[in-house]
Amino acid sequence: MDKKIYDIIVVGSGPAGLTSAIYARRAGKSVLVLEKEAFGGQITHSPKVENYPGYIEMSGNEFAEVLVNQALGQGAEIDLAEVTDVIDEGALKRVVTDAGDYECKAVIIAAGSKHRPLGVAREDELTGNGVSYCAVCDGAFYAGKHVAVIGGGNSALQEAVMLSERCSQVTVIQNLAFLTGEEQLIRKLQNTPNVDFIYNSVVDALEGRDELTGVIIYNTEENEYSLIECDGLFVAIGQMPENEPFLHVTKLNEYGYVDAGEDCTTETPGVFVAGDCRSKRVRQITTATGDGAVAAVAACRYLDTL
Ligand SMILES: Cc1cc2nc3c(=O)[nH]c(=O)nc-3n(C[C@H](O)[C@H](O)[C@H](O)COP(=O)(O)OP(=O)(O)OC[C@H]3O[C@@H](n4cnc5c(N)ncnc54)[C@H](O)[C@@H]3O)c2cc1C
Repeated sequence: MDKKIYDIIVVGSGPAGLTSAIYARRAGKSVLVLEKEAFGGQITHSPKVENYPGYIEMSGNEFAEVLVNQALGQGAEIDLAEVTDVIDEGALKRVVTDAGDYECKAVIIAAGSKHRPLGVAREDELTGNGVSYCAVCDGAFYAGKHVAVIGGGNSALQEAVMLSERCSQVTVIQNLAFLTGEEQLIRKLQNTPNVDFIYNSVVDALEGRDELTGVIIYNTEENEYSLIECDGLFVAIGQMPENEPFLHVTKLNEYGYVDAGEDCTTETPGVFVAGDCRSKRVRQITTATGDGAVAAVAACRYLDTL
């Protein structure tokens, strides 16, 4: 029997990928979503989401479940497979996976990105219980409390500014002897009374049984360990997009994100990109779902020209 040729294959079942599947199905296109890990994407790691319009509060898992069911209800197929390559064969695209090859006419890459972890013991266990990677998402849970921010680049400094507006104390912990973010941000933070800085220090261990109560840091210059008591730890040491499988059909920027603008098109006709894996400033569910809709409409228009 001949293998099915899908109109659209979506790589990744996060908010961007599933939104694009919903939009493409409603335009009557056949859609397969391929996911390598968690159906619903990285939001499944979040115990509480309070900034998605229309939902006052929900867990990331609740949101993911509704979104998966909505895509399935619209007739999208969703399979577990890791995409390892996408090959442009003109009007047809070959999607190579660890479960075999698939063919389609258009591809939407919605592979997301991962926050770079600290790499210390019990980090996974305490994520959502004091350890966070997103001040926009979780900052409100620490109002009036003492938090530490790990990192000294622009992302970390922006997180520190945001947190200083609601937390009682913000301690920025940087591994170097200086901050690497923009001068303007550094000056702003240095003039904020509830922000302090610790340099030349890395996180050695996380304290607390079920909830974080502090961090042990190691000062590499003084060769000394010390305990910083805090209620929250915001890790902002960069993100890790996982876009290597798409190198044959996209151009990546210097940080590894697919170099594409708000129209979600790539340099390869018939290949589109949506969500956190794209170069952009704000990585949130709202921006991912927005991209999903834009990419799906663009893909449907492309299909109609074939
Ligand atoms: C702990 C935490 C809390 C957060 N809280 C909030 C919040 O409160 N509000 C908010 O708006 N945002 C929040 N975010 C951010 C939000 O989750 C992301 O912005 C959003 O999920 C991005 O959606 P996406 O579809 O682009 O990517 P993702 O959700 O990352 O989905 C991409 C999917 O693609 C899959 N994938 C990657 N590569 C491949 C491959 N080669 N083959 C097959 N599948 C692949 C991944 O496994 C993943 O499931 C939070 C994130 C985290 C980690």
